[in-house]
Amino acid sequence: MPLSVIGVDLGGTNIRAAMVDEDGAVRARSSSPTPNRGSVYELTNAVRELISNIDKSGEPAAIGLALAAVTDPFRNRISESPNLPQLDGYDLPFELGRKTGLPVYLENDATAAAVGEHWLGAGQGFENMICVTMGTGIGGGLILNGRAYYGAEGSAGEIGHICMDENGPPCGCGSNGCLEQYSSGTAIVRIAKEAIERFPASPLHSRFEFTAEDVYSAALDGDKASVQAFEETGRRLGTALAALVNVLNPDGIVIAGGVANSWDLFIDSTKLELQKRAFQQPAERVKIVRGTLGDDAGVLGAAKRAFSGKGFS
Ligand SMILES: [Zn+2]
Repeated sequence: MPLSVIGVDLGGTNIRAAMVDEDGAVRARSSSPTPNRGSVYELTNAVRELISNIDKSGEPAAIGLALAAVTDPFRNRISESPNLPQLDGYDLPFELGRKTGLPVYLENDATAAAVGEHWLGAGQGFENMICVTMGTGIGGGLILNGRAYYGAEGSAGEIGHICMDENGPPCGCGSNGCLEQYSSGTAIVRIAKEAIERFPASPLHSRFEFTAEDVYSAALDGDKASVQAFEETGRRLGTALAALVNVLNPDGIVIAGGVANSWDLFIDSTKLELQKRAFQQPAERVKIVRGTLGDDAGVLGAAKRAFSGKGFS
């Protein structure tokens, strides 16, 4: 039987788990809603149950656990868990390891997505790569010289919290005007609300509340306010990516997450802004591609982390 591990992506809404072989083949998978208001014991048990659903299909050697939290992969510890605050200071790897009898390795979920896309998705072959996950918020992961880059304590890659405007909207991180306030799904709604003031004919004008999906549908129907909201989102992303391209000279940028589904509505503005602002040579070299693994990116990246064990890859 080939060597296999279990990759887990513990998100604020869902927990996903998969048994993965060394070549990336998924042997079994399972998912369930996250008991996000539950105690640490309920959370740990929910993950353990999911694992016991799939671990009969092989003999897993380890568990990789991706988490929407600031993680310290060197100490295998959760440093800060804003989405599931009950995990702050809780030794989840140890407790889960005790219950499953397997070593558990932590990974930040955006880094896991970067590792997953680099291993099996759109990032294959990029020696130096940036992965931006555009969802409710914005996550970021870096692959440098072929390996995940963590920084001193694992918090590297927070692309969503690059400051675009010191006087911009307040951000959950404590700063103002972060990229997350312009290019996330949440931000698109705010930008569209501003844009419909200029376009009273917009079908969104009469709506009290709407979602990023509503803005997307309206944009596809030709609503100018919604089209402009996506263009602004793309432009802001391009400005941030230009800075990263100047700093890191990457081979590729992978854009993933739910907002990437509206690719055609923002990507031209992103590329234009990047070309305008970055140095010519690195701007021409960098390939901008859409993630191909969808929700699997985090699970597969977590599995890769488990294969690397303490050695990292
Ligand atoms: Zn921020």
